[in-house]
Amino acid sequence: MDTIEKLKVLSEDSQYDLACACGTSKDDRRKRGLDGKWLYPVTLPQGGYSILLKTLLSNACANDCKYCPLRSGTNVRRCTLQPEEVASVFMEYVRRKKVFGLFLSSAVINNADYTMDEINAVARLLRYRHNFRGYIHLKIIPGASDAAIEDSLSLASAVSLNIETPGKKHFDALSSKKDYTRDIIHPLKLISKLTEKGSKFSRVKCTTQFIVGASDETDSEIIEYMFGLYNRLNFNRVYFSAYQKGLGNPEIPGERQSPNPEKTFLREHRLYQVDFLIRRYGFKGNDILLDQSGNLRMDKDPKEVWADSHPEYYPVRINTSDRETLLRVPGLGLDTVSRILKMRRDRKITRLEALGIKGKRLEKVKSYVISE
Ligand code: SF4
Repeated sequence: MDTIEKLKVLSEDSQYDLACACGTSKDDRRKRGLDGKWLYPVTLPQGGYSILLKTLLSNACANDCKYCPLRSGTNVRRCTLQPEEVASVFMEYVRRKKVFGLFLSSAVINNADYTMDEINAVARLLRYRHNFRGYIHLKIIPGASDAAIEDSLSLASAVSLNIETPGKKHFDALSSKKDYTRDIIHPLKLISKLTEKGSKFSRVKCTTQFIVGASDETDSEIIEYMFGLYNRLNFNRVYFSAYQKGLGNPEIPGERQSPNPEKTFLREHRLYQVDFLIRRYGFKGNDILLDQSGNLRMDKDPKEVWADSHPEYYPVRINTSDRETLLRVPGLGLDTVSRILKMRRDRKITRLEALGIKGKRLEKVKSYVISE
């Protein structure tokens, strides 16, 4: 295969890794690329928008993660790009001003450190031979040595290491070659320590991703780990990728249980809503309400679930309540609340229509606020 052919295969295979792109809707996160499908519009972890060249270095994996279509032994077209190939294609796109950054991941070629060295070699070529100063997101390969991880941090703008599951029990059900504590938790803690405020690599952003629904984990378990990643390890973003039935080993819980693929995508969406409530709306752990099985409700968003269980909090006075109180109103997002605060400086808000919201959302807001 020539470089472009390999890029087509490897970029397509990178679609399941969402740890470089945020956004709240399913379509937003899974936007397919442009120009042969390897250029992805994304929102960066530190904010701002960009187009990234997103690809794997290789899909020839030595590992056996049971949820992954690239696991060893499956019948997929295998190929590997050389570091020079990635660097020269990428720089060509940079020169044509088609991309502003790179997201580079890989299946495990031989072993974790060999793969990490190849990934780091691409970044080294870009930084030192091509003098590229822009955005480079490198995937940290589970099981990579501390030295290889430190090398990545010295070259990257952002790194991600996918936690995959909330805890060892679920992880062990999905992978026989990787060790949760040694290959995932230890490097996550190391990345956290090496990038903490005031440290040598504090400029590097860190993200991670859960696979949702491949095991029989509950939302409660995922949310607990998510809090740990934000509060104890100071990760910048946590992403979720719904397990897609049919891609994994028939024995895993996700294959046996998932009744409806749309439900897993909705579950992923609800987890993103929780993530936003925690990061942007000031929600704490006990504000996220779960059902008796430890899962989020699928029929209502988590903010509305909280509102409906706190009738004493409403109606909220739209002309006098502070920002935190307004943010608890279902239907009022960050932008609308900012607009309300700005409008209130000049005049009293007498009609909610003036806020620029309409339809069902307007009706929802009306049931939680008063404008006197
Ligand atoms: S390490 Fe696991 S998740 Fe990553 S490509 Fe290999 S089989 Fe897939």
